Amino acid sequence: MLQPATPPLTRSACEALDAADPLASLRERFVLPESIYLDGNSLGILPRAVADRVAGVVTEEWGRGLIGSWNDAGWIHLPRTAGAKIGRLIGAEPHSVVVADSTSVNLFKLLSGALRLRPGRRVILTEAGNFPSDLYMMQGLAEFAAADIEIRAVEPDELAAALGDDVALLCITQVNYRTGAMHDMRDLTAKAHAVGALVLWDLAHSAGAVELDLAGCGADLAIGCGYKFLNGGPGAPGFLYVSPRLQPDMRQPLQGWLGHARPFDFDPTYEPAPGVDRHLCGTPPVLSMAALDEALAVFDDVPMADLRAKCQAQIDLMLRLIVERLDGRGFSIETPPDPAARGSQVSLLHGEAFAICQALIARGVVGDYREPGILRFGITPLYLRYVDLWDAVDQLVAVMDEQVFLAAEFRERAYVT
Ligand SMILES: *Cc1c(COP(=O)(O)O)cnc(C)c1O
Repeated sequence: MLQPATPPLTRSACEALDAADPLASLRERFVLPESIYLDGNSLGILPRAVADRVAGVVTEEWGRGLIGSWNDAGWIHLPRTAGAKIGRLIGAEPHSVVVADSTSVNLFKLLSGALRLRPGRRVILTEAGNFPSDLYMMQGLAEFAAADIEIRAVEPDELAAALGDDVALLCITQVNYRTGAMHDMRDLTAKAHAVGALVLWDLAHSAGAVELDLAGCGADLAIGCGYKFLNGGPGAPGFLYVSPRLQPDMRQPLQGWLGHARPFDFDPTYEPAPGVDRHLCGTPPVLSMAALDEALAVFDDVPMADLRAKCQAQIDLMLRLIVERLDGRGFSIETPPDPAARGSQVSLLHGEAFAICQALIARGVVGDYREPGILRFGITPLYLRYVDLWDAVDQLVAVMDEQVFLAAEFRERAYVT
């Protein structure tokens, strides 16, 4: 545990932090839940403008415009228009990001393409604790590929040493979904490039949460998620990034018609579109993509540096409250204390984490549980107040003091945990 700081924090000190918060008014742009919602890292809350946008897409663009809306309402360009907004958020070059498919599918496309750029190398290097879907996609590719592919999965601190001249691709998630630990993109990219390997970053827990500078880091490839910190709604499409350096040579196997150079020529033979567009596959899901596109507008006037500064202050506050008020209750803090080495969540390890999480939800504090033993709280400075963190920890203290988590009702597991 960290050492408690003195003097102890008070709720009114948290209220004072909110009163002085220059980003406080951003909350008004969201449909705020009744709960204290610390799960925006899993499903972001609804930005107010999204409901109207989607209603307009349904009643006007679809209802009246029908097929003409592919051109007139710009439906066909949504992968690029929403992609450009994400590109700005992640420090990507213009025309290097498109929105398409799911994070998992985008991973498959870029994994396959990256391996083709490093013929003669057979290793994909990754982290053993990577998000399972990412590992599964690598395993699927290795099983079905004609070539012999080795997946080398190591601990995070062993990645640099495991980079050898047999590695085609380093494929990792920048912010770990369990612990919230964050890799240094610039450093690992440089180390991978030094042995001739490419790097594919999963930004599922980074985009919209931390400051990113893909262009400045010399990043090669990235994918990310639309429904977490980007607030695009349940099942929102994901995005992918291909560096302009790699775009001319990079291909991918899901060669759907919308990745063709001229889809409406209906040419029987595939010819890849120039640039990042060749990484599109089929028809975009317009309703979800419009929701994501509108949700991204929330970020328009907010510098990521300001959001990140508030996020760090909120994480520090929560960690300090946990140390002050929950010492001796069996929690250990998994989130790195070093601000530069963490993303946007607070993770606590506890043997009863699942039941504690359920008991907290029953008291209006929504976090989530991840196997094994992790209680996870997403920090979303767009709409979280400092006082929310005080109240959340206050409820956690009550749950522990009253041992409510021991009740049978908090031990039942639904399909989604
Ligand atoms: C959330 C998440 C995904 C989700 O992938 P989907 O295809 O959208 O289900 C993938 N990778 C990581 C690291 C994630 O955190």
